[in-house]
This record gives sequence, C-alpha cells and structure tokens, in this order.
Amino acid sequence: MPFADFHGNAEAVRTIREMLSRDHFPHSAIISGPQGSGKFTLAQMVAKAMNCLQPPPDRRPARLFGVCSNCTRIAQADALEERFAEAVETRENLRDADKRETRIFVQTHPDVTIIPPDPPQMLVKVDQVRHVIHEIYYRPAEGKRRVYIFSESDFMKEAANSLLKILEEPPDFATIFLLTDNPSALFPTIRSRCIHLRLSPLTFEAVETYLSKTRPELKPQERGLVARLSGGGLGRARSFDLPKYLLARQAALALLGPALGEKDHSDLFRVTDSYRSGAEGKGKLDLSIRILYLLLEDVLFLKSGTGEFVRNTDIGPTLQKMAEQVDFLWIVDAVNRLGELESGMRRNLLRTLALDSFATSLEHDPAWH
Ligand SMILES: [Zn+2]
Repeated sequence: MPFADFHGNAEAVRTIREMLSRDHFPHSAIISGPQGSGKFTLAQMVAKAMNCLQPPPDRRPARLFGVCSNCTRIAQADALEERFAEAVETRENLRDADKRETRIFVQTHPDVTIIPPDPPQMLVKVDQVRHVIHEIYYRPAEGKRRVYIFSESDFMKEAANSLLKILEEPPDFATIFLLTDNPSALFPTIRSRCIHLRLSPLTFEAVETYLSKTRPELKPQERGLVARLSGGGLGRARSFDLPKYLLARQAALALLGPALGEKDHSDLFRVTDSYRSGAEGKGKLDLSIRILYLLLEDVLFLKSGTGEFVRNTDIGPTLQKMAEQVDFLWIVDAVNRLGELESGMRRNLLRTLALDSFATSLEHDPAWH
C-alpha cells in the first residue's frame, strides 16, 4: 500500500515522505491521534518503506513498495489484533513458570518488532523494554533499519525509565515509534526526544467515499451507518460486519427493554439465556457490552443537543424515545452498572444471571422516572 493510498492527514504523510526521501528519518517518533486515525497503519508503511528491497529508482517511496519479501513479511503484522491474540494464546498455553517469564511481542520480520501493552494490566512492562535494549544495538539482519513500534504507549514507570535510556543513545540504524491517543501522558523527557506527528480522524463523509470504492456491495444508507459505527477508522470500516452488529444490537436493546418500561420480560430472558458459557458466549457478551456503551453514548448525545454525533442513525426514533424517558443520572448509573457487569464477567460470574440482574437493576433505579 503506497503512501498515496493513505487517507487523510496529508501534512503528516508529506513530512514522513520527505524525511524518507532524504534518508533522514529520526530515531524516535511519536505518532498521536484518536483510535482509528491510522497511527499503526502509518508506522507499518514507514517500516516497509525503510526496508523495501525494490524502492523506486528516485528513492522516493511512493508507488512500488509492498510486494518484496521484506514488505510482505512486515505486512503479516498489519492484522495486529489477530497477531496479538495469537501471541497471548501461545503464552496462555505455556507452563506457569514460563508464562511469568514471557512477554508479548509481535514480530513477523526479524528487523521489525511490535511491542503491544502486556495483558492483563495492558501496560508496557520493563521486561519488554529490556528485550528491545538487548537487540536494538545489533545491525539489521535482513532489512536496512530496525524498527520498534510501541502500539499503545502506556508504560509502567520502570519501563518508561528504561526506554529513556535507549532514546538518549539510539543506534544509527534504528527507529522507535511511540503510538498514542494521549501524548500528554508520556514523560516530558520522552516527548522531548521524539519528533511528533499528529493525526486527526477522518470525517464520516471521507470514510463513506472510501467505502463506496472498497465495499460497493453496501447501500448508501449502510455506508453512512458503517462509517459512523467504525468511528472514522478505515481499517474497521473495511472489515465491519454490519449484519452481525445489527443482530447483536437487537439483543443489547432487549437488555435495555425493562429500563424503557417493557413490562413483559420474556424477550429479555430469551436473550440473556442465549449467552452460553464458553468462548462463543464470551465473544457475544463482549460485543453486547460494547454496543450498550455505544447506545448509552448516543442517548447522551441526544440529551445534550448534539445529535449529529449519534452513531446508530438507523434507529433514531428508538434512541429519541429513550432520551425522553431517562435523565442524566440514570445514564451515569447505567454506565457504572455496565462497568460492574464487565468486571463481573472477568471474574466469570454466571453470565445469564449477571445480565438479568443488570437489566432489571436499571428498571428499579430511583433515578428512573
Ligand atoms: Zn518492498
């Protein structure tokens, strides 16, 4: 995928292309921007451009990179969520002693390493940074530059201090990317050693235009809905499974039924009963919780007079009715209860029971009117 195909953020892309064409790419760069703005996609593009075996003759990485053996191996990590899940599962299957020693990395090419936050705390740990220190001073094995991508730069304190040591004396042949949606959370000492590229999210209209080319099977109305539901993120919009979402949303709405005055609970119990144990039930529940947050936020937008931000535009009247029935306190309370439900799920409470009690607790809440 050439840079010309990177959507939006022309300014940041131009800066990157210039630095690459002059062969003066900095040793450390922060790429900041909201979720879905393309931070990781861009870092991967740079990693490929730096290590491409077939760069165009004028050295301006514009068109050709993406097909050589280096590029294709780096590209295997483009699907970061899948690679991350595989790495976590591999660790889960280790013996306990090894599990504690093992940190999570994604490395599909010997010279390009992605360092995701390490679960369950979802923070970058000092052992991950030590691993980077251990190998960053070796010359690249098969490419031209070693690239390290911290996909979400939430560091434990000790890890941030270790990182600082590398940033103070980086080798000539390495580049470190720190991706973050909140650059002010990084140590000032770290920020001051990095160039900073800022990405903004695409407008819904830009995502719709993109979808009209990449997913012609979607009707115009569906394109609008997918653009909003994927939050302006192209990657998510491209793979967004609308039928699956709509089905799961029906279940989520049934959970809100009692709160909206639905006295007959048979719909609710039928839905909660379908959340079986095991991986399938867990995936379904995770999706429902995400959708419930989305629905509550939409209701909040309507109540605050900022209806233009509503994502579930196809059920406008339903959301409007909800907005008229509940007050702000109720929404805050519902979000809190949803948080409790989420952490209860992590402790493996019985799903069906927990869902029933979540749904009915909203109905009996004193803030309800
Ligand atoms: Zn290439």
